Amino acid sequence: MSVDPKAPYDNQNIFAKILRGEIPCNKMHEDDHVLAFEDINPQAPNHVLVIPKGAYVSWDDFSAKADDAEIAGFIRGVGHVARILGLVEPGYRLLANVGHHGHQEVPHLHVHLFGGQPLGPMLAR
Ligand code: AMP
Repeated sequence: MSVDPKAPYDNQNIFAKILRGEIPCNKMHEDDHVLAFEDINPQAPNHVLVIPKGAYVSWDDFSAKADDAEIAGFIRGVGHVARILGLVEPGYRLLANVGHHGHQEVPHLHVHLFGGQPLGPMLAR
């Protein structure tokens, strides 16, 4: 079921549990602002999720409420993960699903980072 982007943050969501160390993940990077880990159901040779450490439901929530340091830290963190994975030269794709039409399933903001092969058109046709 997709996420209601206007619902309050649920601190029992699976990414909140990963952030608290209650559920394991295959960590790719962590700093003061972000955690990056491999998607459990990869859709490309590289499929990493980058999440802010703060409690934000979605891109909408984060862009409206996060402070400038959190936003800068998150954007820089996403770029850093792409660089450490060696994806800048071949290229990569970022995707953030929001709400029902976006088919967001986990109610903690995450950016999908895909790479490792040509990724084809932006949306399935
Ligand atoms: P979205 O539809 O954008 O909310 O995507 C949620 C993503 O989280 C999916 O690609 C799932 O495969 C991924 N996911 C769900 N649970 C886990 C988990 N425990 N560890 C890593 N990735 C997960």
